[in-house]
Amino acid sequence: MAAPMTIGYLNGEFADLTSLRIPVLDRGFLFGDAVYEVIPVYEGRPFRSEFHYQRLQRSLAQIHMEPVLDREQWGSLLRELIARNGSGSMAVYMQISRGAENTRNHLIPKGLTPTVFAMTAALKSRSPEVLERGLQVITRDDTRWGRCDIKSTSLLANILLYSEAHEQHAQECLLHRDGQLTEGSSSSVFVVKKGRVYAPPYGPEILPGTTRDLVAELCEANGTPVREGPIDMTELAEADEIWIASATRELLPVTRVDGHPVGDGHPGPLWRAIDARFQDYKQESAND
Ligand code: PLP
Repeated sequence: MAAPMTIGYLNGEFADLTSLRIPVLDRGFLFGDAVYEVIPVYEGRPFRSEFHYQRLQRSLAQIHMEPVLDREQWGSLLRELIARNGSGSMAVYMQISRGAENTRNHLIPKGLTPTVFAMTAALKSRSPEVLERGLQVITRDDTRWGRCDIKSTSLLANILLYSEAHEQHAQECLLHRDGQLTEGSSSSVFVVKKGRVYAPPYGPEILPGTTRDLVAELCEANGTPVREGPIDMTELAEADEIWIASATRELLPVTRVDGHPVGDGHPGPLWRAIDARFQDYKQESAND
C-alpha cells in the first residue's frame, strides 16, 4: 500500500493525517451519509477542478445538503492542501458528511454542521506494462444501489467487486444490470466497434464521470464522437476495443474480458489516438 502523504484537512484545521479525529456519531461513519470527490493534481495544479466542484455540488443537492464550500473556499482549500503536501503530482480526496448529532438517527436531522475532510494520496503514474498490454477485467452483476449517479462514500458493493477482480488477477470489474453494461466498479467505460465509440447513457445507474466527459470532448475533436446508448453485454464479445476511464487512471485499454481477448488482444489504435490527445491536453493545461 502506498504511504499516505502527511498533511490532511478537517473542519478548518490542517494537521498530520494520522492525528485527525472525527466523532463516532458522525453520520458519515454510521451511515455512509457523505459524498466525496477525487481530484488529480499534476505538478501542483488541480486538473479540471471546476468539474469536480460542480459534481460535488450536485451530489450534495441530491442528498438534500446545502452547498458547504463556495468556489473560493474550495479553491483555497485545494491550494493550501496541495502546497502543504509538496505541490507535486497527487490525488486530492475530499469528503463531506452530514455531520454528527448526539445519537444514531435514521431520520435526516436539520441544522447539523457538516464534516469536511480532505487528504492527498500518491498519484501512481500509469505503468508501461499496462499501456503496452492493457488491462484484464472481469464482469459481474451490478449489486450497487439505484442512485450510482451520487458520488456517495457508501462503496461497500464497489469495494467487494473491485477486490473480487483483484482476486481473479484482473484490474477492474465491469458491471451490468439486466444484461446491460453500466460502468466499472471505480471507472467509466467505453466500447469501440467499427471505429465508433459507445458509452452507456447517463442516468441513476452510473456516475457522471469527469474523465469520461473529457474523453467525450477529445473523441469529438478526433472526429469520432461518443454515442450514448444502452450497451448489451453480448456486444462486449464483438468489441474492437474497450476502455475504462477515471480521474486517477486516466484512459486505459482493456484487452481481456473474463479471460477472452478484446479485438486482437492488444491496446487498439483508437485508444492510442485518444490517449495521445489526453496527454497533450494534460500538458497544455499544465502550461496555461
Ligand atoms: N464510476 C465510478 C463508480 C467511479 O468510482 C469513478 C471514479 O472513481 C468513475 C466512474 C469515474 O469518475 P471520474 O472520471 O470523475 O474519476
